[in-house]
Amino acid sequence: YHARETGANYSLYDPTHDPHNPRRLALMAELRQAIENDQLQLHYQPKIALATGGMIGAEALLRWQHPKTGMIPPDQFIRSAENTGLIKPLTDWVLGTGLRQCSEALASGALRHLAINISARSLHDLRFPNLVGKFLKASGIAPEKLMLEVTESAFMVDLQRTVETLAVLSHMGILISIDDFGTGFSSLNYIKKLPVNEIKIDKSFVSDMTSNENDLSIVRSIIELGHNLGLKVVAEGVENKATLDSLAALGCDYCQGYYISRPLPHERFKDWPGHASG
Ligand code: C2E
Ligand code: CA
Ligand code: CA
Ligand code: CA
Repeated sequence: YHARETGANYSLYDPTHDPHNPRRLALMAELRQAIENDQLQLHYQPKIALATGGMIGAEALLRWQHPKTGMIPPDQFIRSAENTGLIKPLTDWVLGTGLRQCSEALASGALRHLAINISARSLHDLRFPNLVGKFLKASGIAPEKLMLEVTESAFMVDLQRTVETLAVLSHMGILISIDDFGTGFSSLNYIKKLPVNEIKIDKSFVSDMTSNENDLSIVRSIIELGHNLGLKVVAEGVENKATLDSLAALGCDYCQGYYISRPLPHERFKDWPGHASG
């Protein structure tokens, strides 16, 4: 049976994700060095409460300043890092750096929580909660101030194990957010099994919700579903006032997007106005 070599798989071939692709191998070798040589940065994007406009948290987003090619966006290296095992040192770096840079703001309450993106791969590792615990201990930050953003795709690979790992993390007091909600897993069954605090509506639905009836319906349904399950609902990708107003009218809890603030380097994030107004 030759289906594998011919039709179906061929269309899925993407050279940048081929483990033997030389360009990718070189990129991963450079990423390994970048982790060691301080070429990585975290940018922080505020998350605000729609009711008050106050900042309730921030999301750390990875940036790679490559000495030759300039800024490389995370979409261009995260997946390769997952497939080559580099995601482990990368996630360690993000956790360590994020908690260290935000420790003061988290301790004073200026920042209520720091959200970090976690790849599915980390959640399939039963040692991951222990690792997170070590980082929290080292930084002296309460687990309730750390939120982990997990995409739905994590549940497609190994639902059982992902649920187990998340249960341990949640039991430790760590907050869990389901990222890119609505884009991945078609069955909603998993969400009942999960200790989740919030769901984040994917920006692909949010960006056109004021002009596209279908997107508006999806956003409305996700907000209703989230609230029925007792969860907070966040909208990402809010780029204008019309979208913000529409989300507020629908009862969405929190939002994030360029209209409020772009992701900012730590130096600028520290002075972001939301810090002062709480
Ligand atoms: P994500 O977690 O869904 O992050 C949201 C993305 O939307 C970010 O892109 C952010 O900069 C962008 N964004 C924020 N507001 C707006 C807006 O108003 N309009 C539009 N069009 N975009 C907006 P970014 O920083 O390029 O990150 C892309 C993805 O890379 C993230 O998607 C996340 O899945 C992944 N990523 C980023 N940092 C990390 C990390 O530290 N670890 C892991 N595992 N993944 C990361
Ligand atoms: Ca995210
Ligand atoms: Ca997202
Ligand atoms: Ca995304």
